[in-house]
Amino acid sequence: MTYSSRRTCLQCGNVWAGDELPFCSRCLADGWENASGFIKPKHNPTLLPWPLPKKRSVVTYDFIIDKSLYINTIANDGDIYFDTYYNNFSSVLNQPLGMTAGSGIPPNFPMPTYPLDSQIVVDIFNNPHVYAENITIIDQEIAQGRLIPSGICDVPGCFNLTIPGTNKCGIH
Ligand SMILES: [Zn+2]
Ligand SMILES: [Zn+2]
Repeated sequence: MTYSSRRTCLQCGNVWAGDELPFCSRCLADGWENASGFIKPKHNPTLLPWPLPKKRSVVTYDFIIDKSLYINTIANDGDIYFDTYYNNFSSVLNQPLGMTAGSGIPPNFPMPTYPLDSQIVVDIFNNPHVYAENITIIDQEIAQGRLIPSGICDVPGCFNLTIPGTNKCGIH
């Protein structure tokens, strides 16, 4: 971490590497911990068996047991994207903690039938909630331009990651 990449959060005082994360991970994690709808019932594996008319995913059972650990892992290691469909930000982590991220449930099935390898937190600042997804779906949405990744700040000498969807980091 070079000096130019060191960022200090004005909200919580956390110091982090701006060339690794565009936003303060501690603030993200705190917000997710305190969000009452973070794990919605339809994505909660402890409520299975439970058939619903639409296809959906549940997160891994470990997420329920070690919620803080999973939240901190996504906040620190997830890749942040601007979602051009919803005009907000998402954080995606492939194989959180090296494990299965969750599983998929087809329409009208009571239980999951296939594994998923990634966790995604959508609307990370305002109404954050988590579910499981396949990384190939995420990669498609990046390729199609729906999800825009962070780049490098275009201010000369600054190596911070941009706020996704813009050309500059949070301090420029
Ligand atoms: Zn902070
Ligand atoms: Zn910058």
